[in-house]
Amino acid sequence: MREGMNDQVMLVNNGKDFNHENLRQLFDLGEHDLPALLSYANQIRKKQVGNEVHLRAIIEFSNYCSCHCLYCGLRAENRKISRYRLTNQEIFQSVQTAVNYGLKTIVLQSGEDQFYRPDDIARLIEFIKKHFDVAVTLSLGEHFRQSYRIWRNAGADRYLLKHETADPILYQKLRPGKNLQDRIDCLMNLKDLGYQVGSGNMVGLPGQTLTSLIEDVLLMKKLNIEMAGIGPFLPHPDTPLGCYSAGSLSQTLKILAITRIVLPTIHLPATTAISTINDNGRRLALESGANVIMPNFTPLYVRNQYVIYPQKIDIIEDPEKSMKNLKKLLKEMNRTISMSYGHAIKIKKYSYYKKEAYHGFGSQ
Ligand code: SAM
Ligand code: SF4
Repeated sequence: MREGMNDQVMLVNNGKDFNHENLRQLFDLGEHDLPALLSYANQIRKKQVGNEVHLRAIIEFSNYCSCHCLYCGLRAENRKISRYRLTNQEIFQSVQTAVNYGLKTIVLQSGEDQFYRPDDIARLIEFIKKHFDVAVTLSLGEHFRQSYRIWRNAGADRYLLKHETADPILYQKLRPGKNLQDRIDCLMNLKDLGYQVGSGNMVGLPGQTLTSLIEDVLLMKKLNIEMAGIGPFLPHPDTPLGCYSAGSLSQTLKILAITRIVLPTIHLPATTAISTINDNGRRLALESGANVIMPNFTPLYVRNQYVIYPQKIDIIEDPEKSMKNLKKLLKEMNRTISMSYGHAIKIKKYSYYKKEAYHGFGSQ
């Protein structure tokens, strides 16, 4: 570690003593200091969660969505994509393929699709848990606590619900009709129901400030989440944000590294979005604190319809090729594939957060 940076990093190390101001010092580090910061996060990753990489098979089972997120290609207003829903049979087939490759977690993801009743999803979870030896993660957006409860009782282990941005005003602009506090309430409900909970944010959103990026990390710390999906914003031409620039690789890696420093035992994916902005993105993320990869097991014939952003890197890769590339990369990096379910390292009980509402910046 470069001298001079030590103090700043030590300040926030293990989350013992950090706040907006000392985190800002890390965010302010220039390009020159970035390699040392990433390498420090990599050391923490190694010490805290080891060399194992957890593979989570993502199955994008429906691209219908009733939401209007300005950034997303699946938004209800986008009439240019054809919509699909996989049949249960197709979903089970995809699960079987993932299991054949040795994956121990299935991530069921979709838009907020009103077609499904809570019980439909519960039956799906029950079937998967009964017939396959896997953990189940859901990523279905915002729902009533009662639905989350039904799915948890059906056997779901984890839930991914990115808070997207910790700036409540920007959040409302980017997700018309929604608000950040509701999202946070969902995350707290999920925690309360015993899910391992993942959140996360996009980096480089139009209108996003450095202050709000720092708050993204602080919010995840405050919520004591177990996983964080952090990736660059990528403009989709058929959305209102189509003409904006993408988030940068270096900023995304920096935030990934800082998240590892602040939440040392967290599960951090090297996201598809990072691989999409840079061919070497997956490797760089794995060297900056990431310890999870989410290979895509959605059937190839619908994958090009789940276009949340363009040139999504995994759109054309079949499981055979993607698993081969993945194994090669991990071997080169001296990293092993985890054979476990990859549950949260420490399933801690969140304590104080529930008692107070989130009022935006400076509310800690
Ligand atoms: N509908 C669910 C939800 O919103 O939580 C799950 C599916 S949604 C497609 C999954 C994630 O895609 C979102 O949490 C968001 O961060 C990401 N996403 C959407 N549009 C994006 C874009 N243009 N660039 C980068 N990530 C994007
Ligand atoms: Fe729907 Fe999720 Fe896309 Fe928003 S991010 S439009 S909720 S799929």
